[in-house]
Amino acid sequence: MSRYEAVIGLEVHVELKTDTKIFCGCSTEFGKEPNTQVCPVCLGLPGSTGVLNKKVVELATRAGLALNCEIGTYTWFDRKNYYYPDLPKGYQISQVFRPIAYNGYLDIDVDGEKKRINITRAHIEEDPGKLVHSGGSITSSRYSYVDYNRSGMPLIEIVSEPDIRSGAEAKAYLEKLKAHLEYAGVSDVKMEQGSLRCDANVSVRPVGTTTLGTKTEIKNMNSFRAVQRAIEYEVERQIDVLEDGGKVVQETRGWDENKGITVSMRNKENPDYRCFIEHELPPIELTEEWIEEVRASIPELPDARRRRLVEEHGLPDYDAGVITSSLALAEFFDAALKEFPDAKTVSNWIMGELLRLLNARNMELGESRITPGGLASLLQLIKKGTISNKIGKEVFEVMFEEGKDPEQIVKERGLSQISDQGQLAQIIDEVIAKNPKSVADYQSGKKQAIGFLVGQVMKATRGQANPGVVNSMLREKLGE
Ligand SMILES: [Zn+2]
Repeated sequence: MSRYEAVIGLEVHVELKTDTKIFCGCSTEFGKEPNTQVCPVCLGLPGSTGVLNKKVVELATRAGLALNCEIGTYTWFDRKNYYYPDLPKGYQISQVFRPIAYNGYLDIDVDGEKKRINITRAHIEEDPGKLVHSGGSITSSRYSYVDYNRSGMPLIEIVSEPDIRSGAEAKAYLEKLKAHLEYAGVSDVKMEQGSLRCDANVSVRPVGTTTLGTKTEIKNMNSFRAVQRAIEYEVERQIDVLEDGGKVVQETRGWDENKGITVSMRNKENPDYRCFIEHELPPIELTEEWIEEVRASIPELPDARRRRLVEEHGLPDYDAGVITSSLALAEFFDAALKEFPDAKTVSNWIMGELLRLLNARNMELGESRITPGGLASLLQLIKKGTISNKIGKEVFEVMFEEGKDPEQIVKERGLSQISDQGQLAQIIDEVIAKNPKSVADYQSGKKQAIGFLVGQVMKATRGQANPGVVNSMLREKLGE
């Protein structure tokens, strides 16, 4: 058991799902040619003043409510002053002094244990532009370009309390956060497109003490798995430093995914940003009534949905947790269940075959061609005995890749289960003739020997024989 415990807080930047940027009418569409979605306001040209996009306030409020936060009825923007080439104004518009949302929480499960992670605040801010380096990193590049398409994209920054104690907890918190924001419809939460970005503040301290150790900030993590690995590595690194009698240095460290280590990026303490109230934008005033309207418009969130699956459909809590971990999966389950009302069977196929294929191909549900109706039809075929469970898995894979109807696949490939005794009789006779030892074993009382014979018939029919029928025919022929 380690003598140290980790103290971890996460800062998560989430891009809000608006059509236009936070202070101008430029498009927020992802993946366009560099610098094609810009105007004087988002370029920060002198003399340009923006107007706040109301949708940003609504989505930030929804996000705050979905994270169990209180919402401020009177908040404003501040200027956070710093220099960086992707920030031509020399300041970033953010909410430093009065965030729109604060005092929230999310409940997570890790290894069956529930835990509450408190959320300090969620504030609105604009994204700066993006540097595009000619080489692999800023230090190894001969030159860098600046793409201002991202400049002025609306963000919320969600800051957790340092309540997280391990990489696994950090991953569980991020998964929960992502699900809540996705259900609330405020963001695409796609880490690979940069609409969700995470930095981790990590420190360690001797177990039993309450003062905080020196922390490092870790950046450049591109997946939830990477966040977990980076934190686990960094915790070990800091413990090693302390055990060797050294001191942890406050610094920013980058996660190197290939090497699986964190490396020092900047060795200085956080600069003093010099923050001032932004006077060119009016403060944000919200009425309690409006906040309640927004609250009422938020659909059922993951925890409530999970409870519903357990209480109404009798699913095990574990299954319900997996199914509700993403909105797409939960909707898929509900839709399939409407057509094939056997919750546990539907959940088994989603958790087994569907997630297995999605993970193996590193795909999102929306990228596959499988539909809830398709899964329901497949389960009908299995239930009717047209195909076996095993053949069902093969058919499912074809449906997943090609989007075809299961009945069509079964017909085209001749996969129907053979239940016809006439068709099976000859194969069974051959198997009996070829395996005298198993037959003798069975007849001398070793009843388990029949399993081998059934297996041989299944093999001869490429898995298409109905195992129940084969079993009873064999017993009959062997003189039961
Ligand atoms: Zn613009």
